[in-house]
Amino acid sequence: MAAETLRHNCGVMGIWNDDNAAELVFHGLYSLQHRGQESAGIVSADDGRFYRHFGMGTLTQVFSGPDTLKKLKGRSAVGHNRYSTTGSSSQYNIQPLVAELRDGPVAIAHNGNLVNTQKIRRQLQEDGAIFHSTTDSEIIVHLMARSKHNMVRDKLLEAIQKVEGAYSITVLSDHALYAARDPYGWRPLCIGRKGDAWGVASETCAFDLLGYEYIQDVNPGELVVLNGSGMKVIRFAEPKRTFHCIFEHVYFSRPDSRVAGEYIDKYRRRMGKNLSEEHPVEDADIVISVPDSSNTAALGYASRSGTRFEMGLIRNHYVGRTFIQPTQTMREMGVRLKFNPVGGVLKDRKVVVVEDSIVRGTTLKKLATLLRKAGAKELHVRVSSPPIRFPCYYGMDFPSKSELIANGKSEEEIRQHIGVDSLGYLSVEGLLASVPQSEGVGYCTACFTGEYPIPLRDDEESGSKLRYKNANGDETS
Ligand code: 5GP
Ligand code: MG
Repeated sequence: MAAETLRHNCGVMGIWNDDNAAELVFHGLYSLQHRGQESAGIVSADDGRFYRHFGMGTLTQVFSGPDTLKKLKGRSAVGHNRYSTTGSSSQYNIQPLVAELRDGPVAIAHNGNLVNTQKIRRQLQEDGAIFHSTTDSEIIVHLMARSKHNMVRDKLLEAIQKVEGAYSITVLSDHALYAARDPYGWRPLCIGRKGDAWGVASETCAFDLLGYEYIQDVNPGELVVLNGSGMKVIRFAEPKRTFHCIFEHVYFSRPDSRVAGEYIDKYRRRMGKNLSEEHPVEDADIVISVPDSSNTAALGYASRSGTRFEMGLIRNHYVGRTFIQPTQTMREMGVRLKFNPVGGVLKDRKVVVVEDSIVRGTTLKKLATLLRKAGAKELHVRVSSPPIRFPCYYGMDFPSKSELIANGKSEEEIRQHIGVDSLGYLSVEGLLASVPQSEGVGYCTACFTGEYPIPLRDDEESGSKLRYKNANGDETS
């Protein structure tokens, strides 16, 4: 059971002190739908009472019933989109989690993955705790419940100092909205404002839709308290070198979201430019993307190489992400459902196909066949990230090592498997040169390099004897 909970990335959203807070959270989560389509939930608070609605599926599926949002009364609310995982699709895991603590109720929405939960969970269970879900997020609730402190702020501070790993969380109590980010800053989290109202969101694109102003990121190791007295920032851990997930910049976050004040669009264009420098294609006729995730990188490639950008593939926007399909057959069908080539653009052309990442290789293998059938003369695939060879323990839903196409295969073997004329990946150096670098800022590149910044402590119970390297590069298990 534990292994099922190891992979999830999600979207979180919170509003404090605004009319129809639940409706605002709904719309914020709508902008964050790309961060998770497996389940959704919103909890609102009104005068000491908490209201909750949740379910499996996308936001519009979960909130399709008449008046579901109206029933979530109050001027504050938190919500959560849960990402598709490899098997833990259970309604017990839907967030936000709600708990009745000694001094009142709290709701908690968590994005990230904790790495030391099994030990804590076992200890808590030995002490009599009853868990309702398999999510690691519930551990934080239990730790808060056991805290001897009276204030939610102090309970939360105590709880997060006991857990390790990736967490960007927002907690709602009757008295405040809280936002906390782990000391390494794996997952994003930011604060927005509109007059006396406050917002917390995984990405800034959620604030744009609500007309909230993006104020700042929650810095790694900080707890932000938002209430009638305004915003208070509490540092709970010494600043460390960060391990921002670089895959957020490659794929996961929206390009119209900002990090440290800059659009992710800019980083992605740089990835495309650096990719073009590292792997040029001579005399190419056109550059195409695999919409939508590689659009921006493809534009960067096209502008640096001086090759025309074209829309060679049209995406059906009503098909969910291919990853969600549980079986390989359905996944393959999904690719065909999702993309259709534009023959007139491709016919007799030497085509550069820019893709943001190759995971299992399913998308590109299928696309290569489709693009050739549509008349493309040559296909040169350029990937704006390095080969993904290692699983992620901090929130990305990558499959097991054996399913990753780059695990144990050379680039030439991958090229043959996909069936294209050439293949080039952006180097780790090229990728790091595309994202902001400053003192104290570092990135987690474990999926490409196998260098895991924090060791996974729980694998003994999940049954998998995974090997990993710690921050010093020592291999351990
Ligand atoms: P593949 O078909 O090689 O298994 O996956 C590559 C495709 O999936 C790319 O188009 C990429 O944009 C997308 N992708 C990469 N990582 C993820 C992920 O974590 N979740 C989802 N849903 N798609 C991903
Ligand atoms: Mg894609």
